[in-house]
Amino acid sequence: MNILKNIKGFYELSLMEWKGVVSSIIFLGGCNFRCIYCHNYDMAFNPKDIPSKDLDDILNNLDNRKGWVDGVVISGGEPTIYGEELIDFLLIFKKRGLKTKIYTNGYNYDVIEKIVDKKIVDEISMDIKHIPGKYEEIIKVKLPELEDRILASINILKRAKINKEFRLTAVKGVHSLEDIKKISELISPEKIILQNVTNDCVRDAYKELITPFTDEEIKCFEKKIEVDHGY
Ligand code: SF4
Repeated sequence: MNILKNIKGFYELSLMEWKGVVSSIIFLGGCNFRCIYCHNYDMAFNPKDIPSKDLDDILNNLDNRKGWVDGVVISGGEPTIYGEELIDFLLIFKKRGLKTKIYTNGYNYDVIEKIVDKKIVDEISMDIKHIPGKYEEIIKVKLPELEDRILASINILKRAKINKEFRLTAVKGVHSLEDIKKISELISPEKIILQNVTNDCVRDAYKELITPFTDEEIKCFEKKIEVDHGY
């Protein structure tokens, strides 16, 4: 793999992607999951079809906006599929005095552990797909040691002295209130961030599998989780 040939997108400025941090976003192509609700499926599944961005151009852009941009968010796709290359990649930005955040699906716990131990990441946002035993309903691939690796990542992040967030994209008919409660317990004392699924940017083959909850249902879930965990 070559991380530098798989830089598939760059947003110069975001005020929303990272709470309290003015950031640029880099998208890396490729992913080991095939989630039914993936909105970035071309980038995740067919990165070769998307032209790559030049790292030097991105660095020039960041250097020109020094003092305005505080951090770089590495999104995807799945950044951790690049293994050790991700470490060197993050270091490029840390050496420029920028904060770094990554999004991950949590499968490559060993990569997550390394970047946490090396203190080259300031925030990690991990997507939780389902409860252990039901992951394949969402990710649609069989991967070795799947549940153990996800649990390992959760535990690494719970211990890590960095900002962390756990997100669940809730799909009606796939996630029940009981599932959401179990996931909430799994990541406790951290709090799950519930996102309602949308089916407008997903692959046609999966559109029928995806039904959003109503806003009221999501609010009700949030309330029940709060009550159960005494937040
Ligand atoms: S982990 Fe993220 S990028 Fe990969 S398939 Fe799932 S939603 Fe898409």
